[in-house]
Amino acid sequence: MSVPRETSGEKSSRVIGTRRLKEPMPKPIKTRIFTVANQKGGVGKTTSAVNVAAALAMGGLRTLVIDLDPQGNASTAFSIDRDAVAGMYEVITRDLPMNDVVIKVNGFPHLECAPATQSLANAEVELVSMVGREVRLKKALNNFLQERANNGERIDYVIIDCPPSLGLLTINALVSAEELMIPIQCEYYSLEGLALLLHTVSLVQEHLNPHIRLTTILLTMFDGRTRLANDVAANVRQHYPNELIDIPIPRAVRISEAPSYGQTVMTYDPLSNGAQTYMAVAREIANRGAAVIHTAKEIS
Ligand code: ADP
Ligand code: MG
Repeated sequence: MSVPRETSGEKSSRVIGTRRLKEPMPKPIKTRIFTVANQKGGVGKTTSAVNVAAALAMGGLRTLVIDLDPQGNASTAFSIDRDAVAGMYEVITRDLPMNDVVIKVNGFPHLECAPATQSLANAEVELVSMVGREVRLKKALNNFLQERANNGERIDYVIIDCPPSLGLLTINALVSAEELMIPIQCEYYSLEGLALLLHTVSLVQEHLNPHIRLTTILLTMFDGRTRLANDVAANVRQHYPNELIDIPIPRAVRISEAPSYGQTVMTYDPLSNGAQTYMAVAREIANRGAAVIHTAKEIS
């Protein structure tokens, strides 16, 4: 199977996207909780977290994004004023209920965000000496989901955006989730570090959360004209045929512009190639709800 060249990919995704933009997506049997992680910075974690979440919400699925990166890029993409709100710092280190910080995202009836405030940068250090330091997010999230379920408002998708490190915030995210989503930038060295990430996941599996599985790999900033991008894609396809979402996300100016307008590309330019590709990716993720899941150990 070859990766479609950008021109043909663009054409087909436009057709698919236009036709399917308004079609509802299938609900999962239970809440699916994803951690979006890769200790490399700038690979498209936040961009993928917010756009996949926005697309799922547009598909009618109740979605929550947890911004666990002190840089707060996901919160910014949703136009949340990071100075004015309490956020995940207070939830993780001060036991503030998550419901007190969760904010509805403007323009999306089904999308909410638990924002990161500047102070989240202190959490990494403060957590070290705290009791139950690895399970604080899991407890807060479970309480929140339970509370919502009791009100008849089951959340369908939780997407946790991680900082570019394998510190305690990322560990908290891995402990809270059942599924790991890894965005891979189709560039030189992009697969370096994957082994360390998967080793960390297997340690978490062993000691803290037996349920976490690598289920989803995204190819980001894909430029089909370069041999390198195609080689990286082929390599990932060969090693992770079940986990790879084989709809490469193109490098697209509209995707990178959207956050500066406090938006996702899904609302900034819904008919652009980037938005339509993220829509197709989200639909594939929703459709795969019941797909066979492998452990990171089995595949590494
Ligand atoms: P991470 O969260 O892994 O650090 P980001 O999602 O913030 O990475 O992406 C890094 C940079 O690349 C950002 O400036 C973002 O706007 C840009 N970017 C991400 N995906 C794309 C894309 N598909 N096309 C163009 N620019 C992108
Ligand atoms: Mg980020």
